Amino acid sequence: MSKANDGVLLIISGPSGVGKGSVCAALIAKDPNTVFSVSATTRSPRRGEIDGKDYYFISKEEFLLKIDHGDFLEWAEVFGNYYGTPVAEIQRLLHEGKNVLLDIDTQGANQVRTVCPEGVSIFILPPSFAELERRITARGSETEEMRAIRLSQAEQEIRLAEQYDYSIVNNDIEETADAVLDIIAQVKAERRPR
Ligand code: 5GP
Repeated sequence: MSKANDGVLLIISGPSGVGKGSVCAALIAKDPNTVFSVSATTRSPRRGEIDGKDYYFISKEEFLLKIDHGDFLEWAEVFGNYYGTPVAEIQRLLHEGKNVLLDIDTQGANQVRTVCPEGVSIFILPPSFAELERRITARGSETEEMRAIRLSQAEQEIRLAEQYDYSIVNNDIEETADAVLDIIAQVKAERRPR
């Protein structure tokens, strides 16, 4: 389906708090040809999050309507809220040659792998579980109960890392972003007709 000049569809997953958002932001800053796919969610915005930039924050009713209309490439319920990838923009951006980053959970990644086998999946790992716990606590945006749920979910998700094309330990945001850029360059080189 994808053409040689199309951008690369990147599926990025990893446990909550591992720094996927920061890695994606660093990647976009380093490479103007890479863009972030803004998901829709029924979760409430965290302090500092901007509607239309971090997520499209919508009601559950709106989300369910969008599912009915086939507006999502994939969607999943994560930590009691719905999250979905709007499909319309993605195909256009890829055909324009942009690399598109999807920051999605492991359920969503499975769905995208099925419908877009040309996508490249990357799992971001924490340097250690203790460090992940520290990062989630430092974020301070979750209740104690939510923090515990996210940590126990993280343990299960990390076991799925081997289903991804690549996994990267996020010791340093800039280094991780560079490693993803290397992967993009490699995929593009392999796709180029010889
Ligand atoms: P958070 O609430 O911390 O922003 O995100 C919680 C989880 O939902 C993260 O694992 C994140 O990758 C995932 N997520 C964000 N957007 C989407 C999406 O569009 N689809 C799916 N399946 N997961 C998403």
